[in-house]
Amino acid sequence: MPVSYRQVRDWIRAFAAAIAENKDYLTELDAAIGDADHGINMNRGMQAVLGKLDAGDQADIGAMLKTVGMTLVSTVGGAGGPLYGTLFLQMGTSAADKSDLSGDDWAAALAAGVAGVQRRGKAELCDKTMIDALVPAVETVRSALADGSTVKEALRRSADAARDGMTATIPLVARKGRASYLGERSANHQDPGATSSWLLLQTAAQTLAAKDS
Ligand code: ADP
Ligand code: MG
Repeated sequence: MPVSYRQVRDWIRAFAAAIAENKDYLTELDAAIGDADHGINMNRGMQAVLGKLDAGDQADIGAMLKTVGMTLVSTVGGAGGPLYGTLFLQMGTSAADKSDLSGDDWAAALAAGVAGVQRRGKAELCDKTMIDALVPAVETVRSALADGSTVKEALRRSADAARDGMTATIPLVARKGRASYLGERSANHQDPGATSSWLLLQTAAQTLAAKDS
């Protein structure tokens, strides 16, 4: 069963709800190795996104994802906003004109989004950023689908890979973003952006393969 427009919309709403619920947690993580604003930034952006979605239906999945991206770019300051904005804009370009997504379409869109984040932020694996959650999620969804997993199972494994990537940021020394200014002192803290990216994939697993509403 392909992923429908409604399911993608449900995912964006579920991500906004997860960000709102974890706003203080994300901000605490950012207080340890950054400037204590990641939860606040992301919540401001996702609340603005909810306003856009509530204002009316978009033409298709690609248009919806582009709207999400543009809203994040225009409402969120700091590094996280433009990076998440790029992720959604590139996903939207990959999903242009589509009113549903196959598993492979989803994997292609996610891969395009993550490639956009890497072009913009120049982070590699183990730099202690959102990339540490996103890249394993892309690789895992692709390999799961190639192995014949259902979309539901592939999304579950992808979210689990994002969670493992998030946890794996704890011992790392940051090499990108604000946390890198701390040098060795950035170790032993979980990266806030990797944590919000895990929420992104976790909510995808919960909504995209659920029964159509
Ligand atoms: P800022 O660092 O400007 O205050 P946020 O607090 O919203 O922005 O976001 C911080 C998160 O952004 C970090 O935890 C990290 O995951 C992510 N990040 C920072 N720089 C980069 C980068 N160059 N590439 C990818 N992700 C990055
Ligand atoms: Mg910050």
